[in-house]
Amino acid sequence: RTPLNSIIGFSQLLEKQEIKDLSDKQKEMITYIKNGGKHLLEMVNDILDLSKIEAGKIQIDFKPFDFGKMLKRAPNIIKALAYEKKIEIDLNIPDDLGWINGDETRLKQVMFNLLSNAVKFTDQRKRIGLEAESGEDNFKITVWDQGIGISKKDQEKIFDPFEQVDKGDGLNIGGTGLGLSISKKLIELHQGTLTVSSKKNEGSRFTILL
Ligand code: ADP
Repeated sequence: RTPLNSIIGFSQLLEKQEIKDLSDKQKEMITYIKNGGKHLLEMVNDILDLSKIEAGKIQIDFKPFDFGKMLKRAPNIIKALAYEKKIEIDLNIPDDLGWINGDETRLKQVMFNLLSNAVKFTDQRKRIGLEAESGEDNFKITVWDQGIGISKKDQEKIFDPFEQVDKGDGLNIGGTGLGLSISKKLIELHQGTLTVSSKKNEGSRFTILL
């Protein structure tokens, strides 16, 4: 990751310094370098995560934490993305959801992946949501959206690495197709399950049982 840090870091410095001699076109190019660097860093992070998981080298740091508190904060990181698309976020998380013994950083990573997918694959002015409930000996977390949905056939593929559903319009929304396979494996390392139910053009529900 170190080489990428200098690409991102120095392009950010150039952007901020507002050097007089730079033309608007050059400034625009610096922004492209910075954004390209950030995108590449996300891809490198995903590929490193997946390789670590597959090599059995990932460290899951089990510690008790307040699960409800973490879940309530989770949507904050996607709020700006949702706001841009005028997508409303419904939260249904009881205050006393309870504590869980798990890796908070890794579980946050899973929530971020599911919530950012929900925003990414949902049209403007629709809704997405996050629900949580605790059973006798488990937690059930659902991320739902009113987005484009996923056909039965594609639902079997999306948890495999590098799988992205062909939208048939030649548009690439971005991403690596690794987020869901990493998320599923991280949940399984917590002895949990991650499943999907969805209907084309009606939306999707991703459910975690822990
Ligand atoms: P990425 O988002 O980087 O493409 P993921 O592994 O997170 O990778 O998702 C794989 C594919 O599953 C996506 O490219 C998309 O086709 C499909 N997908 C994931 N989440 C949703 C969703 N909420 N609604 C519709 N399609 C989805």
